[in-house]
Amino acid sequence: MDEMLNNYLVKHLPKKEDWVNEIESQAKVDHVPIMDPVGINFLMQLIRLNKPDNILEIGTAIGYSALRMNEANPDARITTIERDEIRYGQAVENVKNQQKENMIEIIHGDALEELTKLVDEKRKYNCIFIDAAKGQYKKFFELSLPLLKENGIVISDNVLFRGYVLEPNFEHKRYKKMVEKIKEYNEWLVNHPGFITTILPIGDGIAISYKK
Ligand code: SAH
Ligand code: MG
Repeated sequence: MDEMLNNYLVKHLPKKEDWVNEIESQAKVDHVPIMDPVGINFLMQLIRLNKPDNILEIGTAIGYSALRMNEANPDARITTIERDEIRYGQAVENVKNQQKENMIEIIHGDALEELTKLVDEKRKYNCIFIDAAKGQYKKFFELSLPLLKENGIVISDNVLFRGYVLEPNFEHKRYKKMVEKIKEYNEWLVNHPGFITTILPIGDGIAISYKK
């Protein structure tokens, strides 16, 4: 996004508590791709408005977004999945430090396997937040479909991926495949007959899909 606009928006965000700054610093030091300030505040506002009582997150990292979703709706039960052992450990620690173990359940494992287990357990969520390996969003979405309640929402992060999806012939050694996958996902998502989707240029691009 335009840098001046982003700076303006960041300057006008709500005040943060100290623990928020601490986890943000931790993410910076360890190069953990947590949600950016404007994106996370938008997500929190959605949660305040929507008040989902059960939230599923795919991609915990160090627990930043899970804790902030809890901040936006302290009554929400949050289940979150992380496959990286070190990040999982940091997330457990951060959640414990905030004494939110009762509300935030962190599952250590690959979402591609863990989602099937949650389906077997007949779990239900009214909000699913996808923020993990970008090449697999379609799989995450499809696997978590049985978990989503009527009129629930799916929020997908990073769907514009630094604006790369706009470039017609994107050439990049490291990201070319990933960008193609995200473009495919966006096309598929907006044409999904079971959902109404809007993509917003907030943060790194956020898609909100409403289950009809
Ligand atoms: N939601 C977090 C950021 C997540 S970063 C926040 O904003 O605070 C993406 C995370 O997804 C990484 O930590 C990565 O290890 C994890 N991840 C990627 N693919 C995954 C998979 N298949 N299953 C579980 N976690 C996955
Ligand atoms: Mg993200």
